[in-house]
Amino acid sequence: MNDCMGWLIASKTLDDIPLQRLKFCVRHFLDIVRQSIQTDQATRGLLSDRQRLLDELVHYVRHYHGLGVRRVINGTGVIVHTNLGRSLLPMAAMEALSAVGASYTNLELNLDTGKRGSRYQHVEGLLCELTGAEAALVVNNNAAAVLLALETLASGKEVIVSRGQLVEIGGSFRIPDIMRRSGARLVEVGTTNRTHLRDYQEAITGDTGLLLRVHCSNYRIVGFTSEVNNAELIRLGKEHEIPVMEDLGSGCLIDLSRFGLSKEPTVQEAVTGGMDIVTFSGDKLLGGPQAGILVGRKQYLDQIKNNPLNRALRIDKLTLAALESVLRLYLDEAQALREIPTLAMIALPEAVLAERAQTLCKQCNALLADSAVFTVLSICSQVGGGAMPEQNLASWAVAVEPIGVKISQLERRLRQGTIPIIGRVEADRLLFDLRTIAFDEIDFLLAGLKAALQPGKGEQA
Ligand SMILES: *Cc1c(COP(=O)(O)O)cnc(C)c1O
Repeated sequence: MNDCMGWLIASKTLDDIPLQRLKFCVRHFLDIVRQSIQTDQATRGLLSDRQRLLDELVHYVRHYHGLGVRRVINGTGVIVHTNLGRSLLPMAAMEALSAVGASYTNLELNLDTGKRGSRYQHVEGLLCELTGAEAALVVNNNAAAVLLALETLASGKEVIVSRGQLVEIGGSFRIPDIMRRSGARLVEVGTTNRTHLRDYQEAITGDTGLLLRVHCSNYRIVGFTSEVNNAELIRLGKEHEIPVMEDLGSGCLIDLSRFGLSKEPTVQEAVTGGMDIVTFSGDKLLGGPQAGILVGRKQYLDQIKNNPLNRALRIDKLTLAALESVLRLYLDEAQALREIPTLAMIALPEAVLAERAQTLCKQCNALLADSAVFTVLSICSQVGGGAMPEQNLASWAVAVEPIGVKISQLERRLRQGTIPIIGRVEADRLLFDLRTIAFDEIDFLLAGLKAALQPGKGEQA
């Protein structure tokens, strides 16, 4: 231990790392070495080669000290990729974040009256303006929005949901579970493939607190199917004076069918159609920060806002600032499509992607032709994020078939590189879909490919 520390300090190799962190890493490294000596021949060899041991140590410390959350290049073609952080924020939101993060703000101060204000007032107006709703509220994420609405309106009561809509979203958000947690009782009606208005009608009792419709975000029921449409459900709710809520999941403010995607109900359509409460995510198709948005009738939103649970699910000033800037972009639809990365990626024309793929392929060949075979390939991108599951956007990729390196090895090297690069493995090729790779990321991609395909020649192995 002391030997190692002495050497590291003398060599100044890691003198940017705080001493406490260095000690911690060295102790851990030596523990790992001691443990693997018992079983591993290679480690025993390491002990007799002091230089290699110290090199390994430096590598370990650098790796450990590296930032946990950092940028990666998304070559998968999945636009709203939950594992990769979902939506990218537009520049306007980044500017708002740095202004608001580094200064005091009027978060809860009304600048007109000088009295205490509501942190939500900044986005509530915008949300009402954009969706036509009477009132709005923003919480931590859509899962929280659904939980809060259920707890407020239906705790101790029954909530009627079609069996075809009992969705599970990744990360263990399941309608029956969230329902139980909210204290509401789930009443399932209909069958997996077919649910009729009379199923809801017959299930309504004095205990019914809510009729709930859930968007089948990540699956489709096809064939002999039937669901009750919004208008019928809303009429039924009115008749019985029971609120009707729709969990839209992705929640889009712009009709994206012009880009070849199927028509999804927009938030405005749900609101003007008469839904009492509509919930959706901030970071799926909306293209903003993680948030859960509730819009709808004031009478219900007021109850939801006053629920003490709301305080536990509230969002912070950074989210508010980012969300407000994103919503402002929606005031001009053309600007939203241009400046919100999630939408801009959906809107990228196939011809542009084909051209970018050709260029990238040429650059790869010029740089690395002896290490891999590069080809241009027509493929399909996906919207992702549990939105529009079986819909594809025609796109173009560069496919890499490495020479003398296994595809799994290349995939790992790229994933562990200076800027991690995530591609899509298909058969014996690694694909990079140009739709989710920003124009200014191409140089990083090339450098990463070089480092991974020609370790030793490049900057690092
Ligand atoms: C994604 C989704 C959720 C969860 O939203 P988060 O913002 O990830 O919490 C809830 N319901 C539906 C239908 C969804 O698609």
